[in-house]
Amino acid sequence: MPNARQKAIEAIANTEYDLNQIDFRATSLKDLFGSLVFSEEVQKARLPKPVFKALQKTIKQGVVLDPTIADAVASAMKDWALEHGATHYTHLFQPMTGLTAEKHDSFLSPTGSGTALAEFSGKELVKGEPDASSFPSGGIRATFEARGYTGWDPTSPAYIRETPNGTTLVIPTVFISWTGESLDKKTPLLKSMEVVSTQALRIVRLFGNTEAKKVFSSVGPEQEYFLIDKNFMYARPDLLGCGRTLFGTKPPKGQELEDQYFGTIPERVIACMADCETELFKLGVPVKTRHNEVAPSQYEFAPIFEDSNLATDHNHLCMDVMRRTSEKYGLVCLLHEKPFAGINGSGKHNNWSLATDLGENLLNPGDTPHENMQFLVFCVAVIRAVAKYPELLRVSVASAGNDHRLGANEAPPAIISIFLGDQLQDVIDQLERSDLKSTKAGGFMEVGVTVLPKLPRDAGDRNRTSPFAFTGNKFEFRAVGSSFSIGGPNVVLNTIVAESLDYIATQLETAVKGGKALNKAIQDLLPGILKESKKVIFNGDGYSEDWHKEAEKRGLPNLKSTTDAIPILIRKDTIDLFAKYKVFTERELQARYAIFSEKYVKEVMIEANMMVMMAKTMILPAALRYQSVVAEAVNSCKAAGVDGGAQLELLKELTDLTTKFQAASASLCTASHHHPEGDPYAHAKYIKESVIPKMVDLRTLGDKLETIVADDLWPLPTYREMLFIK
Ligand code: ADP
Ligand code: MG
Repeated sequence: MPNARQKAIEAIANTEYDLNQIDFRATSLKDLFGSLVFSEEVQKARLPKPVFKALQKTIKQGVVLDPTIADAVASAMKDWALEHGATHYTHLFQPMTGLTAEKHDSFLSPTGSGTALAEFSGKELVKGEPDASSFPSGGIRATFEARGYTGWDPTSPAYIRETPNGTTLVIPTVFISWTGESLDKKTPLLKSMEVVSTQALRIVRLFGNTEAKKVFSSVGPEQEYFLIDKNFMYARPDLLGCGRTLFGTKPPKGQELEDQYFGTIPERVIACMADCETELFKLGVPVKTRHNEVAPSQYEFAPIFEDSNLATDHNHLCMDVMRRTSEKYGLVCLLHEKPFAGINGSGKHNNWSLATDLGENLLNPGDTPHENMQFLVFCVAVIRAVAKYPELLRVSVASAGNDHRLGANEAPPAIISIFLGDQLQDVIDQLERSDLKSTKAGGFMEVGVTVLPKLPRDAGDRNRTSPFAFTGNKFEFRAVGSSFSIGGPNVVLNTIVAESLDYIATQLETAVKGGKALNKAIQDLLPGILKESKKVIFNGDGYSEDWHKEAEKRGLPNLKSTTDAIPILIRKDTIDLFAKYKVFTERELQARYAIFSEKYVKEVMIEANMMVMMAKTMILPAALRYQSVVAEAVNSCKAAGVDGGAQLELLKELTDLTTKFQAASASLCTASHHHPEGDPYAHAKYIKESVIPKMVDLRTLGDKLETIVADDLWPLPTYREMLFIK
């Protein structure tokens, strides 16, 4: 009888997949784009003109929504959805799980005479009341007072979700408690966007821009993920239950040949990607690039940037579509930060900038940044923000999954620093010396082949090891985990930059009012800020040991694990900052402190229990079976009168390892069942200090067994198979 692992491989070898599910000659991408979105164009065609105008003003300029238009919008939305075959609508929200949640309601409403009407009122569009008791609230709501409300977010367009046997109208919403506290990731994000807009507008006004009405924080999240054959997951309870492998020895061939990055994309994978892109295009998600990533079976998608609210919603959609579409191709999409030990994990590069509603990118240096004072003000504001609040950025990317990745020489370290690059560093140095004169030019590269055109050279090289890098006209926050909602990190970015802009605007406004020329005021102010903040700038190798030492000397925080980072959420300066800008109340931060802790505890506990289960029911039986085989061989040698010394050694080694493995499993089981006194954070700290080391021990022994036990007895698909059989 083949075991689950052998059956999985057999199934993969014998399955034919339909890789021609979409014909791009028949449907052009251009026509598909946004076809399932209640977009500006659809709104314009279907809404009464004053309603359309009012709605657009809310979306584009942040003007307060006129509540009387809700009925008209709801009615147009319903008609449009019904034409698309929708039977239900749902308020989609983003609870603190980091995922999305939805409850569907039918449009049908019985008339009482045996017939039914399709109904959807403004009231139903604007507010919903899902039973909120089962979402993490961190103590904000007890289950007996479970009222939570969803509220329409008109700035993120509704869309149609097509599923087999039905389509649903999806309305993006915020999720708040009866007492008005945010229970989700969207509400604080929207608040932080308003805050950064207000402060950024003060700066552009100083520069004489009276036209811009709003400043948006723009975000383009690059999404890394793994795709492996789904049959493997059926044979790996850890992948199914935890999204990552808890056992598994490094394959003889991993990523060392560097033959995977940007390599040819396997056929089944590219078919799946194209299908995802089609779905995402219909939903108005502007996915742009796709490629192989560094690790085997690892890939990346990147969209074109949008405002941070839309980018967050669209990133959720992207993850959802990838998960669902991959199944059609017999694949499973792994979004965990570290599905496989020993090879690269997955992150999400959060490209971030600020732009006015008129489209001016405020972090675009232009050709001569040394003359671009407005750019320098924004740039220094970001540097100051990161220097002042590095720990907040760190805690915004903290999770049990991301702990495996940060600082593991594949992703940026847990020390937050900024990379500026040659050109910008040079200008910033001049600024600090109050001696702004010139900008280093990029020029052209010498290719050395006469028939080839000259290639323009970027003014600075890249640096992949920095957690926060200036990349031309935006900053790239690279420490975000692949499974994260980007809501959290962007709330922090928007708020800390707003605080810096607020500080700078206040200084400049005062100086200008006092009669100083703006240019002079800026040149008087910025060097001082740079002197204070420049410790956070580092242009070297972020992976190196030297940097860890240097960073310590500079006094930069190095919060290595999630449990080191969580307390930052309730530190006084954090509470003061978020309260000042009304992004989070103290109670909301306390709630997040509890939720982050609980989430950490639950995730690691599930893994610990899963490990014990796999150890006892899968690995140990395999080891024992092999032990009998070897014992039999030893006995046969004895009976035949030949030297069985080597076989006896193997038996001893195997017995020794198996005994230790059994003991480690028992020890992990005991440790994970202990529940220390105190709050969820105390539990998290206990798990980090007393459970995780035991998981590491058990894994080391299990992985060693994998290298000795007979291959035909090993029950779990191996790394060698999961990563390379396609
Ligand atoms: P990289 O070289 O890092 O791959 P790309 O130009 O491909 O850089 O962009 C990566 C991501 O950055 C994309 O999602 C892109 O849309 C986004 N991006 C570009 N400009 C901005 C901007 N002004 N604000 C936010 N994101 C941006
Ligand atoms: Mg990038």
